[in-house]
Amino acid sequence: MLAYTYIRKGEFGFIEKPRPAIRESGDAIVRVTLSSICTSDLHIKHGSVPRAVPGITVGHEMVGIVEETGNAVKTLKKGDRVSVNVETFCGECFFCRHGYVNNCTDPNGGWALGCRIDGGQAEYVRVPYADQGLKRIPDTVSDEQALFVGDILATGFWAARISEIKHEDTVLIIGAGPTGICTLLCAMLKEPERIIVCEKSEERVEFIKMHYPGIMVTNPEDCKSFVRENSSHSGADVVIEAAGGEGTFRLAWECARPNAIVTIVAMYDKPQVLPLPDMYGKNLTFKTGGVDGCDCEEILELIKKGKIDTTPLITHRYPLSRIGEAYDLFEKRGDGVIKIAIENTCI
Ligand SMILES: [Zn+2]
Ligand SMILES: [Zn+2]
Repeated sequence: MLAYTYIRKGEFGFIEKPRPAIRESGDAIVRVTLSSICTSDLHIKHGSVPRAVPGITVGHEMVGIVEETGNAVKTLKKGDRVSVNVETFCGECFFCRHGYVNNCTDPNGGWALGCRIDGGQAEYVRVPYADQGLKRIPDTVSDEQALFVGDILATGFWAARISEIKHEDTVLIIGAGPTGICTLLCAMLKEPERIIVCEKSEERVEFIKMHYPGIMVTNPEDCKSFVRENSSHSGADVVIEAAGGEGTFRLAWECARPNAIVTIVAMYDKPQVLPLPDMYGKNLTFKTGGVDGCDCEEILELIKKGKIDTTPLITHRYPLSRIGEAYDLFEKRGDGVIKIAIENTCI
């Protein structure tokens, strides 16, 4: 089969590989029907994910159909339509039992698919611990509706959950990229008093205004004063930083009111400064890290009930055979792209 592969730093390309086979009894083989490209894929391409292994098939956002299961797989059978979780986790270790699946102690625990083991920008993918990593998609939910469940939507859901949003809160979300928008959708479910989105791209500001008219929008220059004027206690009660840009970490804690929660979802290219003397007395709580993607069943249920809809994020569609063009578009942010659905039409 053809597999889109991390060849070397700066180069992805198609390589002919054998179809993956069951290796462990907990594995499943999934025929990928729809996948997507994530900013993390670009980080691999540019060599900024040191644990990514050259030669692996990339892609960690996908849905598909179970083709084969190992003997130990209990919850799935051939023919099930499933969303695939970005994280591999055993479900049994200390961290898994506490819901911290990103830190699963299995050697491939955490983000392994499309990073350390072959991913899903291909016709088939092998998913370890399939009972944990695959969730059945309800019949009334389409592949496109479920496409982001295992990665960026799981991230947004987790970010909103750990941020402890209350009804009286003003929530500031920095960044209206794909993850920022997913975070917004999940924060909206908590029904806070106000949500303010800070975004510098005019295109993305328009996207938010068009699709989510009740949401307030500002830009990085005006953000601090805008939040001060539009919150009850001179700052946001909750800040979620999903941009990872120059200066956005500082902006996040500066816009927070004293005793606020500041959740950092963004991945940064460079170390960030935590200037404790400048924030002394603000008594902030910082929450940081990568998604614990263990809420996918609940997310699918919310999609089924019509409470979350990420389909407007799919601005472009390409067949797998033309994924190289899709990467170019995604990387250059051309033509108003937010997310691209890669269709496996070549099978
Ligand atoms: Zn991703
Ligand atoms: Zn584990």
